[in-house]
Amino acid sequence: MIRYRLKCDKRHEFDAWFASSAAYDRQRKRSLVQCPRCGSGKVEKALMAPNVAKKGNRKAAKPQQPEPQLSPVDTQRVAAHGELVQAMRKLRSEIESKSENVGSRFPEEARKIHYEETPARGIHGEATREEARALREEGIEFFPLPILPEDQN
Ligand SMILES: [Zn+2]
Repeated sequence: MIRYRLKCDKRHEFDAWFASSAAYDRQRKRSLVQCPRCGSGKVEKALMAPNVAKKGNRKAAKPQQPEPQLSPVDTQRVAAHGELVQAMRKLRSEIESKSENVGSRFPEEARKIHYEETPARGIHGEATREEARALREEGIEFFPLPILPEDQN
């Protein structure tokens, strides 16, 4: 779509949208482009309009559908959030690649490692809230893996 600022022979200015400049030429030749105020088909391109519609001529222009836009603050927030998620994803895949996934046996395995019943190694897995609390009370150190947005689906 292309927007032209047009002027009729009575010097009314108005904005009009065309599929292309060729479409404008075609429509103008057939007097299909008419001044919305006086109906004159003798229109010419006025100076190229800036993107902001001038007051008073707004009705002549096709209603513009403003694209949903994020405010600069929101954009920053989204970007920061995106970076954070990326960092967490990286951290998590690192942990997951370097440690053994013991799944729901996590509390059991963590305990075994803590009490040196099994060789110390990196593990990750799942624990319920209660299991996690019990481990902490026993002085077993672990930390929760970062939760990624996709976990919450
Ligand atoms: Zn006119």
